[in-house]
Amino acid sequence: MDQEPTPMTDAVALIVAGGRGERLGGTVPKQYQPLAGVAMLRRAITPFLNHPRITAVRVVFRADDREHYDRAVAGLDMEPPVAGGASRQESARLGLESLAQHPPAAVLIHDAARPFCPPDLIDRTLAALALAPAAVPAVPVHDTLKRVDRDQPGRIADTVDRTGLYRVQTPQAFRYDLILAAHRRLAGEACTDDAQVAERAGLAVALVPGDEDNVKVTTPDDYRRAERRLLAETETRTGFGFDVHRFGPGDHVMLGGIAIPHDAGLIGHSDADVALHAATDAILGAIAAGDIGSHFPPSDPRWQGAPSAGFLRHAAEMVAQAGGRIVHLDLTVICERPKIGPHRAAMAARIADILGLVPRRISIKATTTERLGFTGRGEGIAVQAAATVSMPAEPAEPWRNAAG
Ligand code: MG
Repeated sequence: MDQEPTPMTDAVALIVAGGRGERLGGTVPKQYQPLAGVAMLRRAITPFLNHPRITAVRVVFRADDREHYDRAVAGLDMEPPVAGGASRQESARLGLESLAQHPPAAVLIHDAARPFCPPDLIDRTLAALALAPAAVPAVPVHDTLKRVDRDQPGRIADTVDRTGLYRVQTPQAFRYDLILAAHRRLAGEACTDDAQVAERAGLAVALVPGDEDNVKVTTPDDYRRAERRLLAETETRTGFGFDVHRFGPGDHVMLGGIAIPHDAGLIGHSDADVALHAATDAILGAIAAGDIGSHFPPSDPRWQGAPSAGFLRHAAEMVAQAGGRIVHLDLTVICERPKIGPHRAAMAARIADILGLVPRRISIKATTTERLGFTGRGEGIAVQAAATVSMPAEPAEPWRNAAG
């Protein structure tokens, strides 16, 4: 009786990021270089983290790159990275070995230099695993292929028949136990991709339709093209935040994540950092994700006295999860006292640190209300915030006439 093909239940994505990427130039390895403001590695990881069928994502990296790595994946829900080896093949094998304690049913191996993997490509490669032990995306070669003379580069020796030729991409999907065994058997041999390891081990490798957009960023030209494309697919959004807290007993206020000595404190359920609350609301506003109260209800005892840095960090993580980035944050602190000026730089530095940004992206301004109103009477502090966030562009709404 025929068995229904069973889809793989758990699939781990391994992102291989051990290379130096020398062809791209620069002192930072290419997978950590920003591509339209977001590290290429982070862009390579995100489609897998967001995919419902992928249970965990792990990067194989060079231990020397730890600092670059930590910055690139800040806030992402990742498995701890593992150190790779001297070659791409060895790195993939070490990544596979690292999963052996809790072997998944399937593994997808993806290049850190492919930052444009569409979610449906992950679907296709995984789906093909129900019928074959290995599946790789590939696109047919449409250009005519020439071979040049080894001794006379620039001179065509002959034309290669392109019938049946494909360019292979990643992610490449495998049944975990089979590809691990294949890599172990072929350790030390020179294979250019994991599919070749599988082929040499005698595994049937299925081809699934690849995607021409799923390019590998190798040369400076690739990089410029990738960046142009991302910028064209980006939209800028603005969010506003406003918050007020009342003065009460105390000897300092928390403002912008730092403690400022004062003859009063601020009253609130958390640490009452009115500046971070307004900033959090501005960021949530920019991504239309509700407000601080909907994420951290004052009725929840967990947030009693909580440091507000956690609220701000959560909003920043939501932006990152959505594939966006915070471009700028502008705060206006409204009060007669304490004096904000002496603390401005420290507040900007602290907020930048919480958000993982450079301080020049954070603006702190202060004003009084000429002794008018509640801030003028010294009853509390108000803060206004504006956040600018760059997000992957939503497709434009289809034009509709008045009749709908
Ligand atoms: Mg508040």
